Amino acid sequence: MNIRPDPHTEPLAYKPPKKFIGQDSLPHGYGDKQGDLICTHCMQPYNANTGHTMSQFCTKACGCCGTMDHQGRFCPARYVTWKFYSKNLRRFPRSDEGVKFWPDPQTLVILKAAGYSWATDLTDVADTKVAAPKRTIEDAGLPDTHDAKRQRPEDDTIMRLETKLQEKEDENVALRSQLADTQAELALIKNKLQAIKELAEI
Ligand SMILES: [Zn+2]
Ligand SMILES: [Zn+2]
Repeated sequence: MNIRPDPHTEPLAYKPPKKFIGQDSLPHGYGDKQGDLICTHCMQPYNANTGHTMSQFCTKACGCCGTMDHQGRFCPARYVTWKFYSKNLRRFPRSDEGVKFWPDPQTLVILKAAGYSWATDLTDVADTKVAAPKRTIEDAGLPDTHDAKRQRPEDDTIMRLETKLQEKEDENVALRSQLADTQAELALIKNKLQAIKELAEI
């Protein structure tokens, strides 16, 4: 399921589970990204010492529904947006997970307009709100800023080098044409010399 369900043709993909834990109440640091702190399965902190580092291989009970019946799969009692899912789990939802997606604001408008009663009570979970618990440096957008800062001098360097290279190439062309001129002059002088030699021999 690597395509976001179309609310017009697959509205039920957005129907909330009877009892769910919404993405707005998931703990800070919840995710499968590098630097995330909380296992997306058991919702306990990751711990490299005990080998608890990847939610896919988590051996504990689900932190939402308390069962062991969906190890390696996302809990169907969790209600998050498509974007939240893909971003925090670093993968697309699988069809065998039976996950329902909290509609993003645009999708919610469509569902409400279509008159689904279950959509009426749903609140907006703007994806901007998802990012609100800035849990990791990545989420806080710091790498971007950092990259931007870092890239600028690099870009400058590349541009400077490219300019220099162009200058060198221009110099090369100039030198080559000078060389050709000199060679032509030399040939002319040789011819003249040859002529003088021939005259002297007469
Ligand atoms: Zn776990
Ligand atoms: Zn569960």
